[in-house]
Amino acid sequence: MRLLVVEDEVRLARALQKGLRSEGFAVDISHDGASGLESARVGNYDAIVLDVMLPRLSGYEVVRTLRRERNWVPVLLLSAKDGEYDEADGLDVGADDYLTKPFSYVVLVARLRALLRRGAPERPAVLVAGDLVLDPAAKQVARGDATISLTAREFSLLEYLMRRAGEVVSRLDLLEHVWDSYGVSEANVVEVYVGYLRRKIDTPFGRAAVTTVRGVGYRLETDGG
Ligand code: CA
Repeated sequence: MRLLVVEDEVRLARALQKGLRSEGFAVDISHDGASGLESARVGNYDAIVLDVMLPRLSGYEVVRTLRRERNWVPVLLLSAKDGEYDEADGLDVGADDYLTKPFSYVVLVARLRALLRRGAPERPAVLVAGDLVLDPAAKQVARGDATISLTAREFSLLEYLMRRAGEVVSRLDLLEHVWDSYGVSEANVVEVYVGYLRRKIDTPFGRAAVTTVRGVGYRLETDGG
């Protein structure tokens, strides 16, 4: 099993490398976020131990970038207990586990072994359809490099469609999952909001990601239209 340790405290990185090697792992080291990301992209690792506070690129940015690139390598985050970051943030960006420094080496090895047992199934923290990307945690939507501003309702509608990308979703299904039971006075509210959404995510880009399936509902194209 091949591990990457991304840690800017050189002594800690060396100690981890030495310890993990003695457990039988192959261990590479990066000392900053940018080179860690590069190594993670090309290194075909079975797991990554990733410090949060790193020069050049934070651990959060590294794991977020990997997940956007659909790289599902298991990631265990290490963070100093300074209150600036918390576990929820780390797991939100797509990390699999989290240890706060100072941590027990024995616990680290046990957690790593658990991650390695699980392997790297797809578990997107962000939803992707072609060049359309929706990040539920950061509440952001982008097409390519262009950030798209949506209202809360439009965001919920797009999130639901993206979670079921490629499937036909009925109007009733959308009404149940995107609108609560109150305040839906107009029968055509779904059509109206699909129209709003198209004007923001499709029309300006010359695309047609949200297609109408006559008499049934809507489908978000898996290639993002
Ligand atoms: Ca650090």
